[in-house]
Amino acid sequence: MKEQIQQHVKNLLAEGKIKGFLGLRQQGTDIGPHLFTTADELEDLSLGDRQDPGDSRYPLDKILKRIAYKYPTDSFGVLVRGCDERALQQLFAVSMLHRDRVIPVGFACPPELAEQHQCWKPFPDALVAGEVSPGIVGGEDAVGSQLDLLGKLQEWFDTFDRCVKCYGCRNICPVCYCHDCTLEETALLPTGEIPPANPNFLMTRAMHMVGRSLCIYCGLCEEVCPADIPLKSLYKLVSKIVGQEAVTPEGRAAQQEAIGKTTEKAAIG
Ligand code: SF4
Ligand code: SF4
Ligand code: SF4
Repeated sequence: MKEQIQQHVKNLLAEGKIKGFLGLRQQGTDIGPHLFTTADELEDLSLGDRQDPGDSRYPLDKILKRIAYKYPTDSFGVLVRGCDERALQQLFAVSMLHRDRVIPVGFACPPELAEQHQCWKPFPDALVAGEVSPGIVGGEDAVGSQLDLLGKLQEWFDTFDRCVKCYGCRNICPVCYCHDCTLEETALLPTGEIPPANPNFLMTRAMHMVGRSLCIYCGLCEEVCPADIPLKSLYKLVSKIVGQEAVTPEGRAAQQEAIGKTTEKAAIG
């Protein structure tokens, strides 16, 4: 699978279609994001499956956004799994990345990872390598159906009290893109308090991710949370409460794009 990706990227570089490819590089036992600009460098490419599938995942789309900001007229390739491609769609929809200047290079996740993540589409449309598995039917809603938010409010508030306000959930999120973050708004969330204002801190983030239909349920926030707060489940529950459970993130991205076009038209007109 890795060889197919390497060859595909080498071709893109040789044909001058991309200035660089944002993927993962293995150095010794470490795996991290890297912008590959030559064919030789691709020998160190990693897909992030070091010991187990998906055990080294990074918000590459979010990193690409910073690179694209610095090189606005250049095109870049980016390594994507199914959820990364969903994040890309979200970032295209809000004009944080330009669709014409990003070439996704995708690979499929194995069924066990889809099961672990309750993922309904464990492969990207821009598939270059890997075998497509069907995903978990109803996965976009599955965790939410096992838990209860309103019925177990006190238990959730106790869980929220474990938060150490590290901002890891926000920083890792591929679709958290605001320059001025409400979670740093001292009038709403006073500084110097651990745990942060409960439930304001966690529910504000939940509403931002769900209310604006941003969350693509990659689960990175939940994986990095040092307090083991089940954030993805929380967002799915909030999504159900605000009545968005029937709409997939792809559908939401299309909705957002349509809204964006309408707004653009109105501004022009
Ligand atoms: S959420 Fe889906 S696409 Fe993303 S890593 Fe998990 S199984 Fe793969
Ligand atoms: S699951 Fe977490 S990290 Fe992934 S998009 Fe949703 S809020 Fe962001
Ligand atoms: S990652 Fe966990 S502990 Fe850190 S701010 Fe987010 S919820 Fe709180």
